[in-house]
Amino acid sequence: MTPFDRFVMVDWSGGNDTGPTPRKDAIWIGEAGAEPRYMRNRALAEEALSDRIERSLTAGERLMIGFDFPFGYPAGFAGALTGRSDPFAVWGWLTERIEDSPKANNRFDVAGGINRALGNGRGPFWANGLSRDIDGLPRRKDSYLNPFPEKRCSETLCKGAFTCWQLAGAGAVGSQVLMGLPVLERLRRRFAGHVAVWPFEPLERPVAFVEIWPGLINPAVRAATGPNDIRDAVQVALLAEGLSALDPARLLAMLSIDAPEEGWILGLGFEQELMPPVTLQPPPLRNDCFALPAGVDWTPVDAALDLLRKGLHPVTGRETVPLMQAAGRVLAEDVAARRANPPTANTAVDGYGFASAAIGAGPQSLPLVPGRAAAGVPFGGTVPPGHALRVLTGAALPPGVDTVVLDEDVRVGDGRIAFHGPLKPGANTRKAGEDVAKGDIALKQGRVLTPADLALAAATGYGDLPVRERLRVAVISTGDELADPGSFASDAQIFDANRPMLLSMIARFGFEPVDMGRVPDNRDTLRATLDAASGRAHVILTSGGASAGDEDHVSALLHEAGAMQEWRIALKPGRPLALGLWQDTPVFGLPGNPVAALVCTLIFARPAMSLLAGAGWTEPQGFTVPAAFSKSKKPGRREYLRARIRDGRAEVFKSEGSGRISGLSWAEGLVELPDAAAKISPGDPVRYIPYASFGL
Ligand code: AMP
Ligand code: MG
Repeated sequence: MTPFDRFVMVDWSGGNDTGPTPRKDAIWIGEAGAEPRYMRNRALAEEALSDRIERSLTAGERLMIGFDFPFGYPAGFAGALTGRSDPFAVWGWLTERIEDSPKANNRFDVAGGINRALGNGRGPFWANGLSRDIDGLPRRKDSYLNPFPEKRCSETLCKGAFTCWQLAGAGAVGSQVLMGLPVLERLRRRFAGHVAVWPFEPLERPVAFVEIWPGLINPAVRAATGPNDIRDAVQVALLAEGLSALDPARLLAMLSIDAPEEGWILGLGFEQELMPPVTLQPPPLRNDCFALPAGVDWTPVDAALDLLRKGLHPVTGRETVPLMQAAGRVLAEDVAARRANPPTANTAVDGYGFASAAIGAGPQSLPLVPGRAAAGVPFGGTVPPGHALRVLTGAALPPGVDTVVLDEDVRVGDGRIAFHGPLKPGANTRKAGEDVAKGDIALKQGRVLTPADLALAAATGYGDLPVRERLRVAVISTGDELADPGSFASDAQIFDANRPMLLSMIARFGFEPVDMGRVPDNRDTLRATLDAASGRAHVILTSGGASAGDEDHVSALLHEAGAMQEWRIALKPGRPLALGLWQDTPVFGLPGNPVAALVCTLIFARPAMSLLAGAGWTEPQGFTVPAAFSKSKKPGRREYLRARIRDGRAEVFKSEGSGRISGLSWAEGLVELPDAAAKISPGDPVRYIPYASFGL
């Protein structure tokens, strides 16, 4: 079976004509790559869909049309109504009886008739949107009786899905089914032999009608709906986009369902795959984002960092993720508490609660009110003044209680408690909102979410959070001399040590590493690899080939592409960095030496990537500690030494050679020596930055 070429998604409506101004609760038709279309009533929608089907048939395309209402009723209804368990029997039955015009229709009367015939006038349908009473159609569920299941099997799996029996009220879908099925039936007849209805018929025809439910992609819809957007329009567009972006094999998996009577919701159980991954893409970087001031020969480290900071901005889109999966992600918006913490005043200890007004100094004795208040199980009544109530930690304070005396300070007997006053009003209690008030900004945008942040978000009412898409960072090693780790290597070769190091650094920084492998010193191969990397990642890190020599193809290619800058930074260890844009994707051309590659990544690439990821510029936290070494350094270059702390002093690695990988591994951080000349003796203060401060 061929997959589908076009995806049209429809948000249906069961109500009357909603007028010419686009609004919610009317019909919206979404198609991938096009603006959602507004249909003020069903007659117009039927015509538009008919035209759309016609267009696809003429073009020889396979068209999927999704409708957001059930195609079938809960098991047993079709048989009771029509004598056949075939859902199309219901479609036909309704088509003969439903009268529809833009200003009026008879759906409530038809439902009342069904109720009188099948449920003694007490169900299965309920809710009446009209002012006129309808015989057999209950307005409320008081005396409601439903001879059929409340929900279809698929709906029981959807949190928040409405039953098709409810005809009116916010969110109800009952009217949409009654008013929608006749339209589908007419389209099906008009295009007989060309339309298959899923999952009742094999999808062997060019057009398929499928049932959808936008609730499946709620997080994406919520993230994408701006204050002036109409949600119905956003969700049909997103669903169409999500389905058309789907791998055909996955779509087929979603379609292979057996539900011959009730029908099924397309994508149920596949929500994450259906969700369009990214919304709201920020603008690309400017071509001159890596430009250095003219005439400067060696740029000081701080000036280089300043330039990076000013030239870059976040490049990741937004998405909404479940709270449980949000650790380490970058918060995309300020999060205001939806609920106070604690939500109500409660007791901080196990003890006895009362009103402080009735308490003085000296010995106190209060009669106990029967019952108790425990966490999650509040006391139902009011505690009269001069009485006390047993309270357990976390219990909401009932009316009449503002103060609690601790178990250990109380004697209990004869239905009374005795203790010594005075007690400060409010003692041993927590006030509502004393931690966070409702509406307070609990977490700021740009924050990299910690486990504690998740506790705070949960406590203040969040089940999912708006986050930035994870920054994807591609890594490419370059050099004819490189062999894959663990493979055979001739004497002329060395193992590619940078790639495992850089990929794992990226993962530690909280970004998504994309391994692009190693490429020889060959311009065409490198060009193709950069092309592929820019399609897959937000940032590219290369190592090797970044200087200006014959085999330095990274810098040569970036030069060719135009937006390249050779950054000669007054830094040791570090050769020139090649910074540039490859098809709008920033490239950090790192030196090949592992030591220089690591230092340049920590000092330059990491804060820049943090900014690109939406988490803002990051400064590593350093500590001033006494040196355990001697060194004298010349002015002009900032230096980073491989170092670690032992006995409270910073030791440095015995050799400064930039090929010494063992020193990188030996070290637990870097000592930073200033740009100016310095003479360091044991005991002198130096700045030590642990690897952990860089996120390693
Ligand atoms: P380049 O920057 O390409 O001139 O390389 C500088 C030095 O780093 C050379 O000795 C390279 O062999 C070495 N080198 C380059 N890439 C890597 C790598 N991926 N792993 C280990 N050493 C490398
Ligand atoms: Mg090289």
